[in-house]
Amino acid sequence: MKAHRFFACAALSGAMAAAALAQSGQSQDEEFAKDVKEWTTSPEFISPLVDHLPKASGIPSPKDVLGYYPGMPKKLTHVADLNRYYRALAAASKRVKIFSAGATDEGRECLVTAIADEDTIRNLDTYKGYLARLADPRGLSAAEAHRIIEQAKPIYMFTGGLHSAETGPPEMLMELAYRVAVDESPLYQGIRKNVIVMVVNALEPDGRDRYVDWYYRHKIGEETEADRVAGPPYWGKYIYHDNNRDINYSQVTMRNWLKFYLEWHPPIMHDLHESEPFMYTFSGQAPQNPTLDPILYGELPWFSNFEMTKMMSFGMPGVWTHAFVDMWSPGYLGFMSSNHNGMLRMYETFGNGGANTMKRTVDAGAGGGEAFGGGSMTTREWYRPVPPYKTVVWSQRDNTNYMETGVLSALELTSNFAKTVLENFYDKSRNSVESGAKDAPFGYVLPAGQKDMTRVAFIVDILRLQGIEVGRARAEVKLHDGTFPAGSLIVKRNQPYGRLAKILLEKQVYPDPNLRTYDDAAWTMGLMSHADVKEIGDKALLDVATDPVDTMHVAGEVKGSGAWTAVIHDGSNFIPTLRYRLKDLTYDTLSEPYQSGDINLPAGSLVIPSSARVKSEIEKLGLEAVALNEVPNVAKRPSKLPRLAMYTTWGNTQDVGWVRYAFDQFEIPYDLIYKERVRQGNLRDSYDVIVIPNQGRTSKGLVFDIESKGKPLAYNKTPEFPTMGMYGESDDITGGMGLEGVVELDKFVKAGGTLITLGTASFFPADFGITQTVEASRTSGQFYAPGPIVEMEIQQPANPIFYGYSDHAVPVRYANGPLLRVPQEDRTKWVLAQFSGTEKSVLSGFMKGVAETRNRPAIVDVPVGQGQVILFATNPCYRWQNLGELNMLANAILYQK
Ligand SMILES: [Zn+2]
Repeated sequence: MKAHRFFACAALSGAMAAAALAQSGQSQDEEFAKDVKEWTTSPEFISPLVDHLPKASGIPSPKDVLGYYPGMPKKLTHVADLNRYYRALAAASKRVKIFSAGATDEGRECLVTAIADEDTIRNLDTYKGYLARLADPRGLSAAEAHRIIEQAKPIYMFTGGLHSAETGPPEMLMELAYRVAVDESPLYQGIRKNVIVMVVNALEPDGRDRYVDWYYRHKIGEETEADRVAGPPYWGKYIYHDNNRDINYSQVTMRNWLKFYLEWHPPIMHDLHESEPFMYTFSGQAPQNPTLDPILYGELPWFSNFEMTKMMSFGMPGVWTHAFVDMWSPGYLGFMSSNHNGMLRMYETFGNGGANTMKRTVDAGAGGGEAFGGGSMTTREWYRPVPPYKTVVWSQRDNTNYMETGVLSALELTSNFAKTVLENFYDKSRNSVESGAKDAPFGYVLPAGQKDMTRVAFIVDILRLQGIEVGRARAEVKLHDGTFPAGSLIVKRNQPYGRLAKILLEKQVYPDPNLRTYDDAAWTMGLMSHADVKEIGDKALLDVATDPVDTMHVAGEVKGSGAWTAVIHDGSNFIPTLRYRLKDLTYDTLSEPYQSGDINLPAGSLVIPSSARVKSEIEKLGLEAVALNEVPNVAKRPSKLPRLAMYTTWGNTQDVGWVRYAFDQFEIPYDLIYKERVRQGNLRDSYDVIVIPNQGRTSKGLVFDIESKGKPLAYNKTPEFPTMGMYGESDDITGGMGLEGVVELDKFVKAGGTLITLGTASFFPADFGITQTVEASRTSGQFYAPGPIVEMEIQQPANPIFYGYSDHAVPVRYANGPLLRVPQEDRTKWVLAQFSGTEKSVLSGFMKGVAETRNRPAIVDVPVGQGQVILFATNPCYRWQNLGELNMLANAILYQK
């Protein structure tokens, strides 16, 4: 694509301005200039900021260490080599220092490199202290705060490589680190003097290596879009792309980054992604979360407009803002910054899913990238004055040029307005404390004495992980909102992260039914966990005496003594854990409630021969039990443990990953099986229960999965590709289980097996006739339910699935599963629960067209042959969030017909 005439001229004036700023008289790397010019596919895809690279005696450039320049065609860098470069840079330059942020699931290092002038790096701890003080300004006078701001410097932290297929950012960041360390021109002198730049190696180091291996094995030969094959089945250990939706920081690696953030308090964190042409810079569009500080909503377009202006002055087309991703959900990884009074920034640049140069169709039809807004990305709009081209030959170096020009412009702005950035950071932190002291709600109480305190502990521990202060009431708490026992957990809003506490705990009130949101509309922690969280309007909460809680430990208890220990099924997710820990013991589960004197045992309670070991496990797991002399005389069933398998496609491992993660946490063992095992047949010989987690959009996708492009796509371990073959192995991941797989699952059920399907996977047994009379249909085009929390009515409270649930209606996350219909005559037998489907049954978030769900089955148990199929239209194991629902799945597994 030829440069637009306008840009040919504009590029000159931009170049002149930048050249003035980039004057240093330093010797330049001629080879770099030549190679980069060659790798850049069109002259307007480069800027005067990145068309040259200075040399610095004794300081290695990426090429000096790795043998190639970032952005070179067909070159991607493994984590060990990224780390090797950053270590070499830090060893050679007094302007650079590296920090480990911990290890990943697979043992790779999360690495952060800090770059600033020599004096700043030498005194980094002092600057860290300044930022910590501004992050928690309690007790600081305005005058003292301003004295600190005079001394302090903002950290601008760049992150990339969260999504492993978005391969460019970790390459670019090495070059950026080098430039910031060595360039002697005024631009860089200003940046080094006024800003502390930080870069990460890769946010998902395990996925980085797996993707790079996959690229070299399967993708390096791709020449056209039509050649492109699927990515590797896994990035990190569990959750693939949802590593950017891990709102509760379940994953080890994401916790590392949060911990690092809360140690260093970067006022700006900038996450680099790839999906949009040629560069989208985030400005925080609607819907916006109104609890976040309004200053943030001024800062975001301030930066994005500066970058867009700057890049247009360089003549770079296709840079735009405003129309992608909103500010509603706090669950994206980069939001750790804005959630903690900093500033989240984000780019989407254009990547090819690897390092090959190819012709790309940008205008892939309406909807493509701007999925939630619809429309094309190549139209001229007020926020996109120079749109991307409809087709383009695009290289990894083009992508590098765009990203790097953008982030250097952002650093220029930060360097010129460093004090404003710090001022804003302080103001946002102070405003959070002050708002909590004067505006209701003043905080939240999680009352002591709830029937399952382990779910309360789940909430408290996540709040603590987020840096939110939680206290334990020393005495009974009397407020206008109610009276709460001593030991209740108290979250006061007059603290630096009080706004975040409110965002996480409050009911989400969606601002405008006409707006669409990029992810979930609701996440209210109490509703998701089925734990009681009281919003408090009484200001007296702020004066309640509390002891600080670090992490919350729930000690279980066995009351009394006797030959039998009855473990009360109170809905705790640790009941299954106990069952598996005691798998060698023989004992019964009560299938009816039992009451005698002050002993109340709900159905589902376990009656186990007493022993020191049983007592100790109950205490460790936070469960409640009573000792009895005799086994209660009510109906029981043997507590047998099933042989369990979890089915996953190769092409959609993400939602399965969340279920794997939850089962691993609660110690529920299972075989992870793929098409290979299903096609082998004889499933009933090996398994009693097979769970098919939510995956894909359609049942056809579940059955036929990744389309074959003729060549096998092997995911198995070889000496050259050691990250392949983890969590499953296949000579060819394409093709799906096929119809022969469907037949085997049908045989499994008819021979007495239990098949459990979750969320959209529940289309499968209906569509493929395993449950012949159940129909699964879709909601209408007007229906819109971005993950609201809605009410589900339990129809058959005596069914074992509801062991541990005592209310008729319970909150569930709406999963956009099928609208199920069963024959009228079977309804009372098969339908275990249904959606209320009324406006007031939307408990948090937003659902448009709620009546479409009215009285639709939410959980159905259908007898088929000797076995059964349990279809959840809900997803009882969603992203480590709805732990209140998880017991329904555990019960379904543990108590089949
Ligand atoms: Zn991404």
